[in-house]
Amino acid sequence: MSQTYDVIIIGGGIMGCSSAYQLAKRGLKVALFEKKSIGDSPSGKSSAIIRQHYSNELTASMAHYSLKTFRNFDEFVGGECGFNQTGFVVIVEAKDQAGLEANVTFQKSLGIQTELIGAEALKELMPGIDTGSLVAVAYEPESGYADPYLTVNAYAQAAQREGVIFYRDTEVTGIRLDGDKVKGIETADGKYESPIVINCAGAWGAGVARLAGIEVPINSCRVQVAFFRRPQDQAASHPVVADFVNATYFRSETGGITLVGLIDPGEANAIVNPDNFKEYMDDDFLLDAGERLVNRYPAMERSESTGGYASLYAITPDWHPIVDEVPAGSGFYICSGFSGHGFKLAPAISLMVADLTTGKSKPVFDPSLFSYGRFEANQLVRGRYEYSIVG
Ligand SMILES: Cc1cc2nc3c(=O)[nH]c(=O)nc-3n(C[C@H](O)[C@H](O)[C@H](O)COP(=O)(O)OP(=O)(O)OC[C@H]3O[C@@H](n4cnc5c(N)ncnc54)[C@H](O)[C@@H]3O)c2cc1C
Repeated sequence: MSQTYDVIIIGGGIMGCSSAYQLAKRGLKVALFEKKSIGDSPSGKSSAIIRQHYSNELTASMAHYSLKTFRNFDEFVGGECGFNQTGFVVIVEAKDQAGLEANVTFQKSLGIQTELIGAEALKELMPGIDTGSLVAVAYEPESGYADPYLTVNAYAQAAQREGVIFYRDTEVTGIRLDGDKVKGIETADGKYESPIVINCAGAWGAGVARLAGIEVPINSCRVQVAFFRRPQDQAASHPVVADFVNATYFRSETGGITLVGLIDPGEANAIVNPDNFKEYMDDDFLLDAGERLVNRYPAMERSESTGGYASLYAITPDWHPIVDEVPAGSGFYICSGFSGHGFKLAPAISLMVADLTTGKSKPVFDPSLFSYGRFEANQLVRGRYEYSIVG
């Protein structure tokens, strides 16, 4: 006889694990299927930067709420997420100055601690930084970064404590339908019943949706990060920096290392098969990322490369996710397509998913901005910057 659950979640990245936790806390019998192991996914390889600088009220509020969770993880979820409060700075050039200032003003009205700072204040925060061509900078003292692998596994353990059943190394190979309504899933080991199935498959989200006969505009894109050991006179950790001028982000990592990635809309062009792509870093990327880093942080001319890797973004046309029931009334939900900025939003997204799937009339966070229909209606989510990853 097949097993029956109230909710089945496909995917054990941060979205699947955090949503499973929230749903089980509401008393639902939840099963989560992960084709590999927990944290062995883009979530576990995330740069895990936790900042609140967004252009939309909803996303900024979600980031604000989520930061509170990361800062008080043991109380809100249980266990460790490895949050490091290093502060976060955004550096923009002239064309983005008005957008930055407008963002800071509205973010303050949401209770976010953020301010515009000048070159001198930035130098105090990070003495090694080059402020020569500086136009405008915003600073969030409360932000920082988490440990991605630890966070995903802490959510999984919290979900397990709430009674979630985990099927690891178990790929979902089919979605069972009764007319328009979902009735369960299939794996190589058997069939499982549920009136609600949530697709949290990230970069595999389009393939999983296709199992239910649904096309979603989610592309799996290869992205890279590089690591550099700072010279001894720069051993102290530094704030997270989003540098629009050099189209990079960088943050401290343990062991006196700085992690660097790109803020580049062009990353959406590197579409790959999520089950077969080059997971090691390109030499070209190392040189490019290193050069951009040195432009902003000249002491890194004396740094030493300590490697890097490639992983996947699940990119939609506006770099925002789909969180919706598709089609309405089917019981099949999509919670995928978080591009390069989903990690920090997971605490809020998991509440959104729990509210949506349990039919709560007044959700804490309204999911309508992330509707499936927005692409066809040409109502894409827009930020104030061309760097879609910033949101
Ligand atoms: C290099 C990098 C840096 C990033 N930096 C940041 C950052 O600084 N801040 C930030 O907020 N965000 C960042 N992001 C984005 C963020 O990490 C992602 O948006 C988020 O982790 C996506 O989580 P997810 O659970 O949706 O997907 P994933 O982590 O991809 O999880 C999906 C899971 O589904 C499983 N799966 C797929 N198909 C099936 C199937 N058929 N059956 C069973 N299981 C299946 C996969 O194995 C995978 O484990 C970064 C991402 C990357 C790659």
